Amino acid sequence: MTTRTLDTLTFDNRFVRELPADPDASNERRQVTGACYSRVLPKRTRQPEMVACAREVAESLGLTEEACATDDFLQAFSGNKVLPGMDPVANCYGGHQFGNWAGQLGDGRAINLGEVVNDVDQRWALQLKGAGPTPYSRTADGLAVLRSSVREFLCSEAMHHLGVPTTRALSLVLTGDQVLRDMFYDGNPKTEPGAIVCRVSPSFTRFGSFEIFSSRGEWDVLQQLLDYTIRVDFPHLGSPGIETYLAWFDEVCRTTADMIVEWMRVGFVHGVMNTDNMSILGLTIDYGPYGWLEDYDPDWTPNTTDAEGRRYRFGQQSQVALWNLAQLARAVAPLIKQVEPLQASLDNFLSRYNDGYHDMMAQKLGFKEFDSAKDKELIDELLAVLQLSETDMTIFFRDLADVSIDGRAAADGIDATQTPFDDAYYQADPLPDEQRDQTLAWLRRYIDRLLRDGTPDRVRRERMNAVNPKYVLRNYLAQMAIDKSEVGDHSMVNELLEVLRRPYDEQPGKEEFAKKRPEWARHRAGCSMLSCSS
Ligand code: AMP
Ligand code: MG
Repeated sequence: MTTRTLDTLTFDNRFVRELPADPDASNERRQVTGACYSRVLPKRTRQPEMVACAREVAESLGLTEEACATDDFLQAFSGNKVLPGMDPVANCYGGHQFGNWAGQLGDGRAINLGEVVNDVDQRWALQLKGAGPTPYSRTADGLAVLRSSVREFLCSEAMHHLGVPTTRALSLVLTGDQVLRDMFYDGNPKTEPGAIVCRVSPSFTRFGSFEIFSSRGEWDVLQQLLDYTIRVDFPHLGSPGIETYLAWFDEVCRTTADMIVEWMRVGFVHGVMNTDNMSILGLTIDYGPYGWLEDYDPDWTPNTTDAEGRRYRFGQQSQVALWNLAQLARAVAPLIKQVEPLQASLDNFLSRYNDGYHDMMAQKLGFKEFDSAKDKELIDELLAVLQLSETDMTIFFRDLADVSIDGRAAADGIDATQTPFDDAYYQADPLPDEQRDQTLAWLRRYIDRLLRDGTPDRVRRERMNAVNPKYVLRNYLAQMAIDKSEVGDHSMVNELLEVLRRPYDEQPGKEEFAKKRPEWARHRAGCSMLSCSS
């Protein structure tokens, strides 16, 4: 790939060119009908400052790291300069929020700058999040604060390097403007530094992008959007038509199931799986009050807004994804005029998810393959053992890779006084006898299973460490990076970005980023509790 500078980027704004535009050019909050987007310019920022840039994302656009350090880059990705070829728009979409239809939502604070086509013909849409109000801003200001922008920037990249499908983040800039936020909706607003992330994705189309037209009976626009999506994002399915629509929906079900399996593998909780936050490409999108499991707890949700119903808790993510897919099916069904095949795809979602989950767990445990006769029970028992005492999921699986079977005839020889997971427990004292015995009983069964599997320690350890990360974006680490960044020190944001590029590798000198959550972070805002305020 030959590298380009900013002014030789090739824009080809197909979404805007091929789909209907809002004829009203005013940037006023309103209902927009009959259109997929509204043209809008980013707000000028007072004094932009670069916080961090992801060089691999720049590279996939065809930009060098040097190009990212230029003033032109800073001006373009803080919204101050619209480059030739860009055609900024905000997209219209709706969504179900917490199970209820919410009507028109849309890009209330995201502005799509344009689509770059790189030298190998990949299409990347660029989107500024926090670049000012749009017709879809409703009662809010269109802005984003540094704390939520650091979280979105770092998590997008961390997820990518973990191998989880996700939108990417090119850059994180401070705007130099102050933004007023009431973080816990308790009547205590504070000003915070404003920031903008440039997100990058092949497409930002959401389930809610289809729902909005269906809810309004705008069948013509619905079909235009669906045909466009198939032509551009699913070209392998062939030309649009009923059969293709069904194949498309089936693929959306499959990629969504696969994405949730990956979330479960790494301990990610999205926190706001509303249908407007579900990508049509099965990418993780819209990093808001997400969190990473510390102690393994399927009931945990990081989102304080969700604390009561826990709709979006870790263990329920596949069920919610299915519910969201059913809303998408309902939205497109009028174009397809048959319900059974859509229902069949929804039914397949669960078997795809369950199979994927079992295979994934078998990999985490280091087995050659999932043994359907015996492994389900072993996995269920493990999940119960992980909840006996607060046990850090990430550390536990790295410890498990170190269990040795070489030279062992049977599992009887293990040390009965101590588990090999001591650094994964959150309580200070040793495990109570009963819990220790239960854990060791599971460990014996696990070792028996490994003996049957017969993979040598070294090979199994390598395999396990390639799917069980050592470094994840622990909630308290993100918060520490934010605390520093808010007083002008962006070093930890950049250091985390670097460490999270190689999440499966031992990184000597960086072990502090692999440690379990310190006690001070147990109940601290931003570490264990997050609101939607961003
Ligand atoms: P979210 O919960 O972040 O997915 O946002 C739901 C909806 O609210 C989307 O339409 C967002 O664009 C919109 N939204 C969130 N925050 C803001 C904001 N500060 N200004 C304008 N719109 C916003
Ligand atoms: Mg959203």
